[in-house]
Amino acid sequence: ERALKNLLVTGGCGFIGANFIRLALQQNSNIRIINLDCLTYAGNPKNLEGIAEGESYRFVRGDICDAGLVNDLFQEERIDTVVHFAAESHVDRSIEGPAQFIQTNIVGTFNLLEAARKAWAQGASDHRFLHVSTDEVYGSLGETGYFTEVTPYDPRSPYSASKASSDHLASAYFHTYGLPVLITNCSNNYGPYQFPEKLIPLMINNALNGKNLPVYGDGRNVRDWLYVEDHCEAILRVLEKGVLGETYNIGGNNERQNIQIVEAVCDLVDELADPLADGRSRRELISFVKDRPGHDRRYAIDASKIRDELGWEPKVVFEEGIRRTIGWYLDNPAWVESVLNGSYREYYEKMYGGR
Ligand code: NAD
Repeated sequence: ERALKNLLVTGGCGFIGANFIRLALQQNSNIRIINLDCLTYAGNPKNLEGIAEGESYRFVRGDICDAGLVNDLFQEERIDTVVHFAAESHVDRSIEGPAQFIQTNIVGTFNLLEAARKAWAQGASDHRFLHVSTDEVYGSLGETGYFTEVTPYDPRSPYSASKASSDHLASAYFHTYGLPVLITNCSNNYGPYQFPEKLIPLMINNALNGKNLPVYGDGRNVRDWLYVEDHCEAILRVLEKGVLGETYNIGGNNERQNIQIVEAVCDLVDELADPLADGRSRRELISFVKDRPGHDRRYAIDASKIRDELGWEPKVVFEEGIRRTIGWYLDNPAWVESVLNGSYREYYEKMYGGR
């Protein structure tokens, strides 16, 4: 097993990155984490409130596309481990404006791989570059079947195409240059600190405030949901035990239709929060809206490789995870408020027409 030392975490102010930094610092006393994040709309320093800069943590505001900055960080901080989260991550935004997805997800990943290749040219046998990716690169499933690590890539949105491209680059750097690359492809995450444009926190916030709950199409698109902390544990496991050059699929074994997710949120918000002023149940706020173009029907992950080879399994079942998540949003109104700034609302109005 490999011990963690000097980690460069990219995108650490985002949803998964922030959860990862919290967990990694909690579980490892001798590590130093350098969090490189340029703070896009999705990056919120409040996600790391309570973590002080010092020996074990440093925040650097900067862009992964900035080659000079990234090269300097590798030297200055003697980086031996990269955990690469930074990305544009919202499919709807990639349909509205794909350019930034190409820049950050493809060019940015290339830039990090180059910096690692240069910095680790000699004597770096215990170094690791973990590229965090998504199951969306595999395309869409019908009613049956699962994505495995050998499922052919078939991305269908600008987001998933940009992630697929970055996966191929990471893999090429292993085969061509021997860079110590590991790749993880994970299903949909949910949990604390998720930006309220994604399905679950969007629905929680709207349900709390008695606003309309817009569901795409017939609501029967299926996703496999994983509690974010389980994803972060899987990443730590892959860093410690993963075989170089390998890909590991990470999933929650928890398929749900979108409408089932929204109904579960409604029922829990009814249970845990104040009732709506007009006495309606939250389920009455649900309405179906025009489907997203190219909306993949079903994603489902076969996570048997990481289970059998690295001994990782999800710990948090959905009923428990969704209860914790809603509890967290109820307990943290100040965080939600800080996120709901002007640019968020502008975007929200544009996508959902003020509903
Ligand atoms: P997020 O949008 O919440 O966070 C992304 C972070 O990256 C933000 O803090 C943002 O400021 C930062 N960032 C964006 N562009 C940058 C740039 N050019 N330079 C530096 N920082 C930049 O995303 P997330 O949901 O936490 O996802 C993290 C990673 O995990 C992504 O690579 C995503 O593709 C992958 N992933 C996400 C999910 C999911 O369900 N959320 C599932 C599987 C894989």
